[in-house]
This record gives sequence, structure tokens and C-alpha cells, in this order.
Amino acid sequence: MNRAEEPKVTYKRVLLKISGEALMGDQGFGLHPPTVARIANEVKSVHDLGVEICMVIGGGNIFRGLSGAAQGMERTTADYMGMLATVMNALAMQAALEQLGIHTRVISAIPMDQVCEPYIRRRAVRHLEKKRVCIFAAGTGNPYFTTDTAATLRANEMGCEAIFKGTKVDGVYDKDPKKFADAKRYDTVSFDEVLQKHLGVMDASAIALARDNDLPIIVFSLDEPGGFRGILAGEGTYTKVQG
Ligand code: UDP
Repeated sequence: MNRAEEPKVTYKRVLLKISGEALMGDQGFGLHPPTVARIANEVKSVHDLGVEICMVIGGGNIFRGLSGAAQGMERTTADYMGMLATVMNALAMQAALEQLGIHTRVISAIPMDQVCEPYIRRRAVRHLEKKRVCIFAAGTGNPYFTTDTAATLRANEMGCEAIFKGTKVDGVYDKDPKKFADAKRYDTVSFDEVLQKHLGVMDASAIALARDNDLPIIVFSLDEPGGFRGILAGEGTYTKVQG
């Protein structure tokens, strides 16, 4: 494709949020390298458009604080274990992206200098300007939060124009589309409606933080090959959550 035929890109800087479970394939636990490689390819196709990309990856494929707490573990310790799980996922994604020739930085909210960079906002912005993919790990660095909130926080700090929430379905529905054939997808939906109807886009703290800072959330299917790039180029099916 020559330059004249390249799609016009609607966003300059975005944050892609995926759950840890998106990396486990059909295994039910942990990391599935071919799945990680597939998602890395989706990210590359957007990077190739010149879009600056931040990523936040959850840790639910390895450990969730709430599940630990439910089994009697002290909650904050369990949450720190969850945050460490997100670092493992971030490193896996970094390795997969670098195999594709994309420069990346894993940036952790909990300093672990031998493994990755600590979070320094201005430094992270500079990486983005140099077209390095920034993978923000260890959530917010605080227990009692989720990586959805971390994604909203970092997207605001980095000046992203939108959060792209990659899921298993192509948007937000009024009921579970995997269970109800008559479920209807919203093209757009307001933050308040998401909160009032418990539409399950992200947890309430993340939605409120996005709403209060006017940061749209685009919910799309990560299982759709080329879906992420398509939306950046103004195509495809998705739901935009906005004010
Ligand atoms: N976590 C936390 N603080 C944060 C982000 C995450 O304590 O700022 C912990 C929490 O225990 C959570 C786990 O890390 O359950 C994994 O993150 P999350 O559940 O958001 O992962 P996902 O569901 O997206 O895979």
C-alpha cells in the first residue's frame, strides 16, 4: 500500500487495556505464547500506522487479589501478588513485541530495577514520543485497585485520546450476548448509563475516573483479526463509552 492509500488515523495516542485472561488462550490459566504473539501482531499493525501506544495488561490469568482473599489470604498481600502477576504478563508481551522488531519499555508502578523501569511520567511520555510501546505494569502500585483503574489513570497521565478495551465481544451489550440471542449492542453509551445499569465495561472506579476526565473508552473484540487497527482507521464494530 503506498502512502496515498494508507488509512487516515483518527487517534494519535491510545492506551490498549487487555485482561490477563486474554493471554491464556484456551488453557484456563497462565500464558499461551501463540496467543501473546497474536496480540503482539495486532499491536504492531497499529504501531505501523504511527499511533503511539500504551498498554496495560491485567493479571487475572495468574492471580487475583480477591480470589486469594476469598481463600483466607490477607487482602493486601494477595493484591500485591496480583500486581506482580501483571509484571509477568507485561514481560511476556514485551518479548513478543520485540520479536516483531518493536521497541518497548515495561514500566512498573512498583520499582524493580533489575527487571524493568520504574514509573516516571515524563520519561514515559518521552518513550511514547520516540514511538516505543509503553507497557505499564504492577497496576497503580496500590492494593484495592484493579488494572482497569490503572489503565484509566495512566491514559490520563499520558494524555491518551482514548482507552481501547479489548474483550471477547465486539462492544457493550444490554445483556450477555453469549447467553441471550436478543442482546443489543450499543454504538455509544454514556458513562452514567454504564454505572447505573452495571453494564460491566470496567469497574466503577475506572469508569468514574474516565468520566471525570472526559476520556472515552472504546470496547471492541480482540478476537477479531485486524479489529484494533480497523477501529483506528475508522472502521469496524465497537461501542464508544463517552460523556
Ligand atoms: N491489583 C492491585 N492494584 C492495582 C492493580 C491490580 O492490587 O492497581 C491486583 C488485584 O489483586 C487484581 C490483580 O492485581 O486482582 C490483577 O489485576 P486485574 O484483576 O485487574 O486483572 P485482569 O482482570 O484485568 O486480568
